[in-house]
Amino acid sequence: MTTNHTEPGNDFQSFGFRPELLSGIAEAGFQTPSPIQRQAMPLVLEGKDLIAQAQTGTGKTAAYGLPCLNRIEIKEGMQVLVLTPTRELALQVSDELYRLGKNLGIKTTTIYGGASYSKQISQVTKGAQVAVATPGRLLDLLKGKELKNFKPTMVVLDEADEMLDMGFLEDIESIFGFLPEERQTLLFSATMPDAIKKLASRYLDHPAHVKIAATEKSSKNIEQVYYVIDEQERDNAVVRVLDYENPFKAIIFTKTKKEADDLKTNLGFKGYAVEALHGDLSQKQRESVLKSLHDGRIKILVATDVAARGLDVKDLSLVINFHLPFDSESYTHRIGRTGRAGKSGKAVTFVTTRESRALLRLKGTSGTELTFAALPTKKEVQARRHQDFLTKILETEIHADAEALFQTLCEKEGKEAVSLKILSQILDKVKISGPEKIGKHPSEWNETPPPSKKRGSGGGDRRRGGGRSNSSNSSSSSSYRGEGRRESSSGSGRSGKDGGSGSKGGTKPHRFRNK
Ligand code: AMP
Repeated sequence: MTTNHTEPGNDFQSFGFRPELLSGIAEAGFQTPSPIQRQAMPLVLEGKDLIAQAQTGTGKTAAYGLPCLNRIEIKEGMQVLVLTPTRELALQVSDELYRLGKNLGIKTTTIYGGASYSKQISQVTKGAQVAVATPGRLLDLLKGKELKNFKPTMVVLDEADEMLDMGFLEDIESIFGFLPEERQTLLFSATMPDAIKKLASRYLDHPAHVKIAATEKSSKNIEQVYYVIDEQERDNAVVRVLDYENPFKAIIFTKTKKEADDLKTNLGFKGYAVEALHGDLSQKQRESVLKSLHDGRIKILVATDVAARGLDVKDLSLVINFHLPFDSESYTHRIGRTGRAGKSGKAVTFVTTRESRALLRLKGTSGTELTFAALPTKKEVQARRHQDFLTKILETEIHADAEALFQTLCEKEGKEAVSLKILSQILDKVKISGPEKIGKHPSEWNETPPPSKKRGSGGGDRRRGGGRSNSSNSSSSSSYRGEGRRESSSGSGRSGKDGGSGSKGGTKPHRFRNK
C-alpha cells in the first residue's frame, strides 16, 4: 500500500466530507483511511450501489458509514438503514456511527429483539436519521405498521453472508418490500457465495464492486496451534490449556449452546471465573456477561460463534476452538478476536483424528500457519506454574513484619529449612488437574491422512457427519444456524408466527429503481 499523501483518498479531507464529519473522524482517532474505505467511499458518495467484500476489522463500518452520514439531510428523518445479523454487531455499528456523526447532530437508533418495542418505535418517530437493525425485530415493527415515516433511502446489508447463514433471507426479502424503490443499496460481506450474488442481483442496481484481499487479514501476530485429542478428552484439554497459558482473558468457542453451558459449569466448578454467552440469554444477561468480561471480573468466556460475532474484547490473549470450526471464514473470524491492535495472541484448536481431512481443508482454504503441537503434560504445566511463582516471589516487596517472623522461625529451624517450608506451602497450592498426558504427541500423529478408501460416499461432507456422530452433545450445521436465527429474533417472540409470512407476494424478486 502506498502512503503518498498527494494521492486523492490518502486522507479523509480529500473526500470532501463536511467539516462536522471530519471533526468526528478526528475525534475518533482515525488518521488515514483504510484500503476498503479508500475504495468504497468515493463510490458511495457518488450514490452508486455497491458490493464490497471485506471482513470485520478492515474498517468496513466507516467505509459505508462515513459517506452515508455525509449525505444525510438532518431535517429529513430516517434515511439510513443498516441491517446486521446480530444484536451485538447492531450495537457496535450504532455506536460507531453515532461517534462519527455526532457533530453533525445525527441521531441513531438500534432495533433488535429482546429490548423494549416502545423505545425503539419512539426513537424512529422522534426523527432518528439512522437505524441499525437486526432483520427479525425490524420486520416485526414494519409488519405491525409501527414505524411511521420509515423510508430510508440508503440501505446497507452488513455481514450479508452471515445473515443468510443465519436464515434471514426471507426476512430480508420481506423488509425490501417495505423500502422505497428509489434508494441506494450497499452490500458488505466477508464471502461471496452464490446466494449473496443472487441477493445482490435482485436488490442492487448496477452495483460497483470492491474487494479487500483476504491476505490483508491481521493474523500475523497470532500463534496458531492445533492439538489432536480424543473426543472424550475435550474438557480436560481445555483445562490443560488454560492452566498452561494462564491467559489474561480467553474465549472458548463451542458449537452449541448446551456445550457452552456445560463447559461453563465444568470450568466454574474448577474455580475459573467464567461465563457463557449464547443466544438463550436475555439482552440484559448478555450485557451483564460482556460487562464482567470487560471489567475483568471474569477472564474466560465460553461462547457460540453467533453470540460472539462482532465482539471486540480488549486484551484477549487466547482463543480456544473447542471443535474444529466449520469453515475457514469462521476460523479466521474466531482467531481474529485475539492479537488485536498489534498485540500478540494465541489460537488453539482441538482436532480429533476423524477430522484430519477437514483440518487439511481448513489449512488449505484459510492459508494460515496452523501447526501441530503436543498438549503440555501435567509435569510441564506444573513446571511453568512453579516458574511463575518463582518470578513472583523474586519480584515481591518484603513485608514489614516478614523479617521479624523469619528470624523467629529461623531460631527454631534454621534458615534453609524455613525457606524450603515456606516455598512448599506455596507450591502445595499449585494443583494441576487431569491425567498426566492428554492428546497425541508427535510420534503418534501424522498430519497426512491415509488415502481415501471410497469415493462417492459423501467424502466431502464426511467431516460433518463423522464429527457429529462422534460427539455426545454436538449439533448439526442447521441447528447451528437455527440458533443464530433464533438469537436475533428471540426477544421479539416471532419465531413461530411468521414462518411462512415472507412468502406472501413479497418474495417475488423485484428490481427496484430504473436508472
Ligand atoms: P470494522 O471493520 O468496521 O469493525 O472496524 C474495526 C476497527 O477499526 C473499529 O474499532 C474502527 O473504529 C476502527 N477503524 C475504522 N477505520 C479506521 C481508520 N481509518 N483508522 C483507524 N481506525 C479505524
